[in-house]
Amino acid sequence: MKLLFVSTSVAALGSGLGGGVELSLQNIANEMLRRGHQLQIVAPEGSKLNSAIPIIQIPGTLQTTAVDRARTAPIVLPDDSVLANMWDYAHQVQANYDLIVNFAYDWLPFYLTPFFTTPIAHRVSMSSLSDAMDRMIGCIAEKFPNSVAFLTHSQAKTFSFNQGGNLPITCLSSAIDLSLYQFSSQPQPWLAWLGRIAPEKGLEDAVAAAQILNVPLKIVGKMQEQSYWEQICKDYPDAPVDYLGFLSTQELQKLLGQSRAMLMTPRWIEAFGVVVIEALACGTPVISYRCGGPAEVIEDGKTGFFGRTE
Ligand code: UDP
Repeated sequence: MKLLFVSTSVAALGSGLGGGVELSLQNIANEMLRRGHQLQIVAPEGSKLNSAIPIIQIPGTLQTTAVDRARTAPIVLPDDSVLANMWDYAHQVQANYDLIVNFAYDWLPFYLTPFFTTPIAHRVSMSSLSDAMDRMIGCIAEKFPNSVAFLTHSQAKTFSFNQGGNLPITCLSSAIDLSLYQFSSQPQPWLAWLGRIAPEKGLEDAVAAAQILNVPLKIVGKMQEQSYWEQICKDYPDAPVDYLGFLSTQELQKLLGQSRAMLMTPRWIEAFGVVVIEALACGTPVISYRCGGPAEVIEDGKTGFFGRTE
């Protein structure tokens, strides 16, 4: 097949601000190429991947993430929106492709679906956050059966249109390239926490645990909200924590392999949590709240441990 992958509109690929979508898009693209499909990626200007896959770079203003808006907030697009520009490009070239795949958690690509002649498949990468978005995803899931995929059942259940499980829901899960992760049998006496430094990731709970237990905690990930981080440092001045910045997959897997366990303390319903399978790929157990994606992936007492339910 000839595939057109349209990336997230909140960040350039490679920036880290696109979260798990960045690695997933790259992994799925690599695998599709390996299977003999042809593929092109459309992404915001400045995008980079750790592979030779060509990227059509689209200029324009980035979207702000849906996490920061109220559930009832209207849908907004900035002037010269990169989201609109990427989908305008996709519209122009659609005849050259058999399938367009949408990786963005945005209203517009769902709305545009009936106006395209080439089919669009949607990969929904976050749980329900916006009423307008829920309604639009629900409309498209109903009109175009099997065109909308979620990552986990816990995530799919958060959408209002799916109350009672009335729509056939496809869960595509997430995956990583295992050859990039090494097992380490000799963990060091520290815990790791991985993720964007942003309130929905609940870093303060992991830092509190490190302080109470007096166990060193290595923190890695993109600094998305500096003020949130500074507040945590103020609230837990004696916590034995170390922030190591945003690491490449190569560096990240090394740190994970050396860690006794990874802590996963999200405040939202994590749709999947790519970092969970990255830790497990290194043989590192994950200690997590029993909710969202991690609750479906971790086996309590075998590959990790669950804390409180909500
Ligand atoms: N990540 C990374 N370097 C870091 C920390 C995280 O490349 O220092 C990547 C990690 O490999 C994963 C993504 O960031 O692909 C986080 O994805 P996840 O699904 O866990 O959370 P999201 O940010 O999408 O909510």
